[in-house]
Amino acid sequence: MSKLDIEQFACLTDNYAVLIHDEEAGVTASIDAPDAEAILKRLEAKGWKLTHLLVTHHHNDHTGGNLALKQATGCKVIGPAGEAERIPGLDEAVKEGDVVPFGNFEIKVLDTPGHTIGHIAYWIPDARVAFVGDTLFAMGAGRIFEGNAEIMWTSLKKLMELPPNTEIYCGHEYTVANARFALTIDPENLALQNRAKEVDQLRDLGKPTLPTRIDRELETNPFLRPHVTAIRARLGMPYEPDWKVFAEIRERKNKA
Ligand code: ZN
Ligand code: FE
Repeated sequence: MSKLDIEQFACLTDNYAVLIHDEEAGVTASIDAPDAEAILKRLEAKGWKLTHLLVTHHHNDHTGGNLALKQATGCKVIGPAGEAERIPGLDEAVKEGDVVPFGNFEIKVLDTPGHTIGHIAYWIPDARVAFVGDTLFAMGAGRIFEGNAEIMWTSLKKLMELPPNTEIYCGHEYTVANARFALTIDPENLALQNRAKEVDQLRDLGKPTLPTRIDRELETNPFLRPHVTAIRARLGMPYEPDWKVFAEIRERKNKA
């Protein structure tokens, strides 16, 4: 199996930029373009030439660097068909079921609407990695700006069904605040208690808490656990469908 190099670094206030690189094939992609200058600097330091820009959604903290990156590198801009007209410099619109060839790898596109209506994620099965933008976070989930709770829940369920050992790269470092909120919903969860301490320590050392993994999220992320009896009992929603319990957790986080 070919090797995929992954370079994640913080930029803007709390965004992450991620570069992926297949050395053998000589291709490099940026996941989103939060900060063109920071990304170009990192590309130069690594000696990588940007060939692809994979956009998850139209928000400015994910597309603000599109045109500058395209102009500086000639990279191909790939992004969500569902909001194609809002993606600066878009060359190729993609949607669920599409496969983007990337060196020795295939990148599968997943529709994950809810945060924005066209939001997509990129999954590379052979590298056991997925880039989920602002849909799923460590112990959290994206705000619902353009969809509704039922749509967002369907997107999260799709990510929950990825292989459990899939590494998940997210758009933001929101983990410490997410952990604090998660403990109000699922306080008896030992795995969550331990993880909350662990991410505090990581941040105290200035280290990223990401990537995460699907199995860790299934254990500790309250947004992915609306079926859990203890959580339902705490919310007083024993018999509601999962998506409604999810909606209530999302509501509470909005007010937290
Ligand atoms: Zn966003
Ligand atoms: Fe964002």
